[in-house]
Amino acid sequence: MRRPVLAANWKMNLGRPEGALEFVRGIRYALNAIDAVDRVVSPPFTALAAVAEVLAATSIAVGAQNMHFEEQGAHTGEVSAGMLAGLCQFVILGHSERRAAGGALETDAAINRKVRAALAKDLTPIVCVGENLAQMEAGETHAWVSRQVASAFEGLSPDQVARCVIAYEPIWAIGTGKAATPTDANRVIALSIRTAIADRFDEDVAQAVRVQYGGSVTVDNIAEFMAMPEIDGALVGGASLKPDYVDLVRRAAEAAGKR
Ligand code: PEP
Repeated sequence: MRRPVLAANWKMNLGRPEGALEFVRGIRYALNAIDAVDRVVSPPFTALAAVAEVLAATSIAVGAQNMHFEEQGAHTGEVSAGMLAGLCQFVILGHSERRAAGGALETDAAINRKVRAALAKDLTPIVCVGENLAQMEAGETHAWVSRQVASAFEGLSPDQVARCVIAYEPIWAIGTGKAATPTDANRVIALSIRTAIADRFDEDVAQAVRVQYGGSVTVDNIAEFMAMPEIDGALVGGASLKPDYVDLVRRAAEAAGKR
């Protein structure tokens, strides 16, 4: 049984510690009580320490939204896995909003290096993959997503892959209000993500690794995603900033309990 993981991605919001704390204090007791699923809150770097402190006595984990693959050095504006270790437990890697900005730090090879660096410091990477609208319409989803998965985990051991979380996030669904259908997301996860892992590692790892869906998840649609056998939670952007985020996580936990 894979334990679902519900991860909130605050993106570039609530970055001032006082705002982040006000929000997180408002949800922490109720969120802490939903212990049937893993819960992760990912603030901007500027609020990581404050949020981590407030959540230290809870079972809610903290995530960062990115990191560099190098440990230290002349990388202005970057943070390393070693700097995050102790502050947070998860780190989102290869988010499409970062991949779209391009550059040497968001290539498939760079993301592979980030995954290795995160694991070396006992951080759990949430590795984002997903196709854009043109690729989806051209029927290229499978080829694209399975290639992204293969390169993200290239050279890792099966045990290392099993420690990661993958977020299947079709780019056309992120922040658009147009979520994938749960059936389509379930199919991509089964045929393009788990199969890619089974082909390169083994079936046990493919069945062990947790795969989230992300893209316009809301309190109203989360239960349908969680009812799908291949979907092990969600990476939630916009809806994670709303006061009813706790309801979304509660519905996820209830739906997961029924499958
Ligand atoms: C995301 O940021 O990863 C995301 C899925 O955003 P949203 O839920 O707003 O679509």
